[in-house]
Amino acid sequence: MFLALVASVGHITPVDTGGYWQQRVDYQIVARLNEPAGVLSGSQRIRYVNQSPDTLQEFYLHLYLNAFRPGSRWADRDSVEGRRRFNDLQDPDYAFNHARNASINGVAVTGEYPYAPDSTIVRFPLPAPLFPGESLRVVLDWDARPSTVPRRQGRRARRFDFAQWYPRVVVYDRYGWQDHPLYPAGEFYGEFGTFDVVLDLPGDQVVGATGVPIEGDPGWDRAKADPDLEIDYQRDWYAPVGAGRGQMARASGTGCADLILGPGRKCVRFYAEDVHHFALSLNPDYVYEEGRFGGIVVRTLHLPEDRESWGEGRAVRRTIEALRWLDELFGPYPWPQLTNVHRIEGGGTEFPMMVMNGSAGLGIILHEVGHNYLMGILANNEWKEGFLDEGFSSFQATWYYEERLPDRDFYAGLERFLLDLDLDDWSEPVSMVSDEYRDFDTYRAMIYFKAQLFYRQLRYIVGHETMRAILREYYRRWKLKHVTESALLDVAEEVSGRDLKAFFAQWLHGTPLYDYAMGKVRRRELPDETWETTVEVKRIGDGWIPVEVGESGSGEREAIVHARTSGKAERETVTFRTSERPGRLMLDPRLETHDWNYLNNREGGLLPAGEAFRLDSYVREPSRRDGVVNSVAPAVWYNEAAGLTGALRWRTNYLGRFDRMTFWIVRGITGPEPTTESRDPRLWDLYFRLENPLRLRRPHTSQTLEAWILEGRAGTRLTWEREHRRSWASPNRRWRRFTGRWMVARNREFLDTALWSDGGTVEVSDAVGWDAPSGTTDWKVVFEYGAGVAYAARDVGATLDRRYDAEPFGRTTLDVTVRRQMGEGGTSVAARLFGGLYVAESPPLKQRAIPLSGADPYARFGNPLIRSRGAPFVRQEFFYHAPGNGNLRAYAPGLGGRWLSALNLEVEQAVLRRRAGVLRTAGIVLFADGAIADTLAAPTGGDGPATALLDVGVGARFTLRVGDFTFPLRLEFPLWVSHPQLAHNQRQGTDRFEFRWLMSLEPTF
Ligand SMILES: [Zn+2]
Repeated sequence: MFLALVASVGHITPVDTGGYWQQRVDYQIVARLNEPAGVLSGSQRIRYVNQSPDTLQEFYLHLYLNAFRPGSRWADRDSVEGRRRFNDLQDPDYAFNHARNASINGVAVTGEYPYAPDSTIVRFPLPAPLFPGESLRVVLDWDARPSTVPRRQGRRARRFDFAQWYPRVVVYDRYGWQDHPLYPAGEFYGEFGTFDVVLDLPGDQVVGATGVPIEGDPGWDRAKADPDLEIDYQRDWYAPVGAGRGQMARASGTGCADLILGPGRKCVRFYAEDVHHFALSLNPDYVYEEGRFGGIVVRTLHLPEDRESWGEGRAVRRTIEALRWLDELFGPYPWPQLTNVHRIEGGGTEFPMMVMNGSAGLGIILHEVGHNYLMGILANNEWKEGFLDEGFSSFQATWYYEERLPDRDFYAGLERFLLDLDLDDWSEPVSMVSDEYRDFDTYRAMIYFKAQLFYRQLRYIVGHETMRAILREYYRRWKLKHVTESALLDVAEEVSGRDLKAFFAQWLHGTPLYDYAMGKVRRRELPDETWETTVEVKRIGDGWIPVEVGESGSGEREAIVHARTSGKAERETVTFRTSERPGRLMLDPRLETHDWNYLNNREGGLLPAGEAFRLDSYVREPSRRDGVVNSVAPAVWYNEAAGLTGALRWRTNYLGRFDRMTFWIVRGITGPEPTTESRDPRLWDLYFRLENPLRLRRPHTSQTLEAWILEGRAGTRLTWEREHRRSWASPNRRWRRFTGRWMVARNREFLDTALWSDGGTVEVSDAVGWDAPSGTTDWKVVFEYGAGVAYAARDVGATLDRRYDAEPFGRTTLDVTVRRQMGEGGTSVAARLFGGLYVAESPPLKQRAIPLSGADPYARFGNPLIRSRGAPFVRQEFFYHAPGNGNLRAYAPGLGGRWLSALNLEVEQAVLRRRAGVLRTAGIVLFADGAIADTLAAPTGGDGPATALLDVGVGARFTLRVGDFTFPLRLEFPLWVSHPQLAHNQRQGTDRFEFRWLMSLEPTF
């Protein structure tokens, strides 16, 4: 592959961070842990230097632990988004951080809580203004307790993860005090300084922390996995002779010698410089391991049962590998050590010199250790510009894998996920204040995933080598400082020599769609036998990105790139010369951009370009980003009229969601000779369906067009459906579907006369539905109403028992389902209420009656296994239940009338759950179905206007997984029926109590 662009590293002028300033904070904390109460009580001295050009009147502290208690903004936001966690916690389970006895420069001050009842921010008026260059001293006492429900912080028995635990100074930057309450979406922001932390702890606790233990025993020697290990405590790291500010802070502070320890207690003193936060984790059972990357000591503290996952140096080696990669990418790690601990909660959280992880995979270690650079050292405001740490760290971690496994595409899945969000209008700008996102799921998708794509797109624009140069310069210039978007933009522009403002603006502050299309192509052979090609590139989307022009790769051949556009103009032409005549051209042949529609990226030609053909395996439906997938498969089935039936199915899709076409061509092979009056059932039949044509793309909307001449029926159907959700990840949805349909019976040889009359209908309907899972209860409601005309089919050739040629009708159904999980034992109960009504002067055509036992004939038509008389599941000895409508499963499929009202009840007990294999779940079920129906549906010979029917039985349920498909298998035994003469299965006899069975590959409801 050759690149026409010059991947030059721009000239770097040593511009520094001119005009930048940051405040300076030194903490001295002396704290005692009351383990039974879970409370750490401390006294804290803060020296604060105003290095800003502003005069300060106030002072702010974060009391983050107050987020994890009832009534906080965090707890309330959780509840609103359906995650009740902290609002229900009682004492002593919730967290707190109470501050008291505060004084500033010796003057007692009273805190104010500007976001009350949230108390994660406390504000103190200053006794006197603090002028630029001046410093002040804050002294206060506090109590801190983590919550028993962990979230970043937490406690469990003798384990404590102190993540955001002490009154932490709010950042004052050029935008003022960053006094932001803590929400579920969004993280932290802190001032750089020193931490001198003296802890009074139970003697057997093992401690991991930011900084180095300058005094006392952190418990590592007793906890070390290797008895021969000489632990490097680094006690003198910060104490060279004549050292700077750290030495002064230490000299003046309280040390272990000043504490009076109770029996069984010990003192440990940690010290750290140039960090903006201090984390702490305690567990008397921790196992200690140690390694080294250059001068940096790597410590891991894991649980005794972690030997296989963390132990024997595994977590140590992965942490070292992460440091090695980050050192190569950014620059040297500035701190003495890095501690990786196995915390209470799953997932992972980053702190300076420390990561708290729930597992020890390389992926999570790369991500969290990456945050020591992107957050710890390059310290962005995480709640304001979370993309500068989260997406960035995911990008660097993925880059690590890209370098090692160059043949794998690590972005295909991410691209597709984000394209779906973009195309459905779920995306919000990548750079937003975190708690202003629609919800936590959107925050996560944007800050982590779409932000990761932002860095990938930046690397694509500037090239890999320039990207590395940008990262190194960004680090050189901004390490141990607060970074912003403009800090990164300035460095990226300087190093690459490109104007990247539009790119940053579009990716970070908007949600445009990217779509380029191939225009005219002109090839010309020059006198020197080289070729000059001019390509017109049309920009269709709002987003701008440089687009490569080249030839797509295939098989072993890599994509070829001939030229690159700027991507800005609506029509742009590029000209390039090649020694050979270029082949068929394509835009973005390496699939590097976020272009959502590759169907217009190829030069025209006789054969469709970019289409993949495959033999359909039936159980998978693959899709591609760069073209349409065509899947072709033969099929065979049987029915009485056409005999053995051969068919060919052709399916297409683009991106799995657009241009989803299904085309069947069907022909009966062994059917009997046609009777004189009817059509030959062995003729070719056709079925066509197209879903979601690309041209009709609209967010949350889908369209379907169907048409058929198939097994004695002809018809067409159009649907338009729109869905409303609160968020992309929300299972709660409302939907509305309009349907127009024509269906007529043309050849009665295919028809089960119990289900079909010789007629047709033209009708329109409107359906609305709600899916509302809430906790352990799932609600589903579907209401449909419609009207149409029923008419006698003239070409069926059979006598029709009807008094009209055409008659209008109305038809409506209501279906309400509730399903509830009872406790943790795998028991669920479900109830379904159904009502249906057909209104017309004459009785309905059988296919439009309200069915008593299951799916109506129009729904059965969609399934070739039950479509026609004698189909594989419509046999004398075989009892298939297609669910729906009255759903009285024991009764014959052909029963239906003008109205019925039904109730279905089920109790199911799960007996097996598996995460792999074909059989995923198994359970047993008790069921009862009852209905009141008109006598047309249930002709019992009685003279009342209605009949009451009932069935009761037991069954076995399985969930099977084959390929991409998961489906149920039901084997059910309706042992007792109230009207045995109407039962589906009458082979065993006609008593009310008989051994009857049915099977189904569809859920009951
Ligand atoms: Zn992260």
